[in-house]
Amino acid sequence: MASQVSIHPAVDGGVKKGQADFAGGTLVCACADRPVKVAVNGAVAHNHACGCTKCWKPEGATFSVVAVTAHDNITVLENGDKLEVVDPNALIRRHACKECGVHMYGPVEREHAFQGLDFIHPERFEESGWPEPTFAAFVSSIIESGTKPSDMDGIRARLRELGLEPYDCLSPALMDYVASWVARKSGVLKD
Ligand SMILES: [Zn+2]
Ligand SMILES: [Zn+2]
Repeated sequence: MASQVSIHPAVDGGVKKGQADFAGGTLVCACADRPVKVAVNGAVAHNHACGCTKCWKPEGATFSVVAVTAHDNITVLENGDKLEVVDPNALIRRHACKECGVHMYGPVEREHAFQGLDFIHPERFEESGWPEPTFAAFVSSIIESGTKPSDMDGIRARLRELGLEPYDCLSPALMDYVASWVARKSGVLKD
């Protein structure tokens, strides 16, 4: 039963391992005419499936596949005039193509643990070999986009089957990272 649930086209057939030396590439939107192209010149990390309502996902996908890279790695190469910020007030300033809707990069500019990072969708790389997703975040949030609560057990089982441990926030490692940043800022954590 669990295997019939569609998570995302990039993982439904099994999670494909990335190359350890993947050092970036070119992200391309879905437009046939004048596609937006964004260069990522550097490593991509923390790739994961995300169930939140804000990340871009392809048609029919229940989850997005989203990762981070350093903001300095990002360069808009072509057709940047088609980009617009989806929600200027959001922590992640997602830059989407106005025509096809694909989110190309989303910098965190505000003072935050993730400041200086950009969120990207590795499936949009022209190149293969990007690091595979290793967990699923904000899993319960898919209910907000229409998944029936009664389907959640099957979806969590399928995520585990794919090796994508389901979490209802971020992974423990990232939650600890965020909390440590807050604790250092307030002075509770000294090192
Ligand atoms: Zn486009
Ligand atoms: Zn998300």
